[in-house]
Amino acid sequence: MAEMNKPKFFAVNLDSNLSELTSDQLIIDVKAETTRTVRLLPPVEDSGHAFVTSANHFKLKDEEGDNRALACLAIHGNEETGTECWLCKLVEVARQDMLTPEEKTLVLGKGGLDNGIQQSKRFYAQVLEREDTSDGPVYRGPKLLSLPKTASGECLEAMRVQQRKRRAIATDPEKGQDIDISRTGTGRKTKYRVDLTGDVASLDDIFPGWQDKMLSSVIDALRLKVFAPDIQKQFAMRTFGDLLDWKKLEEMGL
Ligand SMILES: [Zn+2]
Repeated sequence: MAEMNKPKFFAVNLDSNLSELTSDQLIIDVKAETTRTVRLLPPVEDSGHAFVTSANHFKLKDEEGDNRALACLAIHGNEETGTECWLCKLVEVARQDMLTPEEKTLVLGKGGLDNGIQQSKRFYAQVLEREDTSDGPVYRGPKLLSLPKTASGECLEAMRVQQRKRRAIATDPEKGQDIDISRTGTGRKTKYRVDLTGDVASLDDIFPGWQDKMLSSVIDALRLKVFAPDIQKQFAMRTFGDLLDWKKLEEMGL
């Protein structure tokens, strides 16, 4: 019998392996079964919100047939588009059982992770992404950390505890600190955990020139597709074709 080639073993190159997980993309999230370390930057919006809410309707087809996310006008509408979201109205009609069961499933999805074209909210914080190398931590950014409601709530709660204890909160430019956000489980069992690292440092030290490098608006940086209701409708017509009864919908004022 021929001798099998034995596998060779190499030393783990953690730095190289970990840097593959980081990317040059502006928007980052926390992948399943990983921990991301970030420094939350102070808010740039006058709301003072460390996490900015963004609401989209997903899975709508553009002219090329590619999936697009359209901004929800109820949240992002402006003077030009108004704040009456056509897609929210379609969702509402489906929820109120004014469509056939098949149509309802198309619009609202099958449940679980499939929510059809229902409004989906994400929460974005401007952060520095920390990568731990053998030479110490390296910070990149600013980036936009995208989290679901539960996870952004955990971050805010951690800051509230700091505030209650009269300590500098994580976003403080002088005495703030990095936080670890860990994600475990998948689907509905997804859980996020937020831990303060205790690595207190001034932004000037870890990221010189941070003020000049910060994004002046989180919402602008997201480049949302804020389209008027009639254009939203065109997207829906392309997406669902004759699977929806458009005549009936028009009678409902859609
Ligand atoms: Zn909407």
